[in-house]
Amino acid sequence: MDMDTNYTLVYLKLIEEVAQDGELNHKEIRQLAKWLNDNEEGRKSWPASLFYALLKDVFDDGKIERPEAEKVGRLIQRVRREWARENSLCGGKLDPSQLVNLITKFDSSEPILPVIDNQFEVAATGAPESAFQVDFSDQSCCCDDFKTNRQHLPVGHISRCCEHIMLGYSQIRPDAGWPNWLDALLETGFRPLPNQQWAVVQVRGCNYLVSSADPDWGNIYAQVDGDALKYSYHLTEKRWSYDRIPQGAEKLIAVVAKISS
Ligand SMILES: [Zn+2]
Repeated sequence: MDMDTNYTLVYLKLIEEVAQDGELNHKEIRQLAKWLNDNEEGRKSWPASLFYALLKDVFDDGKIERPEAEKVGRLIQRVRREWARENSLCGGKLDPSQLVNLITKFDSSEPILPVIDNQFEVAATGAPESAFQVDFSDQSCCCDDFKTNRQHLPVGHISRCCEHIMLGYSQIRPDAGWPNWLDALLETGFRPLPNQQWAVVQVRGCNYLVSSADPDWGNIYAQVDGDALKYSYHLTEKRWSYDRIPQGAEKLIAVVAKISS
C-alpha cells in the first residue's frame, strides 16, 4: 500500500461521508469522482488511485448503472477493511485464547454482540489524531455519538456500535474471521443507526442477522459457505439494493417490516 498521508486521510474522510447503509446513489458517487477530477496529484495516492481507476470506467459511458454503483460500494468496503488492518495497533495485545473462548461461546441465534474483556484506543478512519477509548466488555466508547445516542441501549445491543467500536472489532478480528453473521456485520457493514432494531432469522439452516429499516434500508447479514454476505431492502420502495435478492427473501422482508417502527 503506497500511502501519502494527507491525501490518504482526506479521501478516507470523504468515503466516510458518503458511505452509508443501503445503496450508493449517483450524488454520492459524483462526490467521490469530483474530488478525483479536482485533485490530479491526490488521485495518485492510495486509496484515491483505486477509485480513479474504477470511476473512470463508470463514467466512460456517461451513466451509472446499478452494478457499477455496487462495484464502488464494494471498493469502499475493501478500502475500509484494508485501512483497519493497516492500523491495527492492538491485535498483538489480545490474548488469542480469549478470542477462541468467545468464538466458542458466541450464540448466533440471538442478535447480541459478544463480550470481549479488553479495552484500547481506536482512532476514527481518516483522523488518526483523534483516538477514543473503547471498552469491549460492555461495548462502550467515549465519543459524542456513543454518549448521546447509544449508551442507553442494553449491553450487547448491536446499535451500541459507534464508528470506533466497529473499527475496533476489525482491528482485533481473529485470523479465521468472526463467527457466523458477526463477520459479515463487522466486515461489510457500516455503523448501525442508533434507532435500529435487530433480529435473527433462520433461512435454509443459516442464521441471518436482520436490522429494521430506520429510516429507509433494512440490512441483512449472513455467512453462507464461508462468504460474508450483505443485503439491503428498501421498505417503502419495496426493492433490494443493486437488485441483489437473497435466498428466503420473503421471510426476510417480513422480519424487516415487523421490527421497523
Ligand atoms: Zn465512538
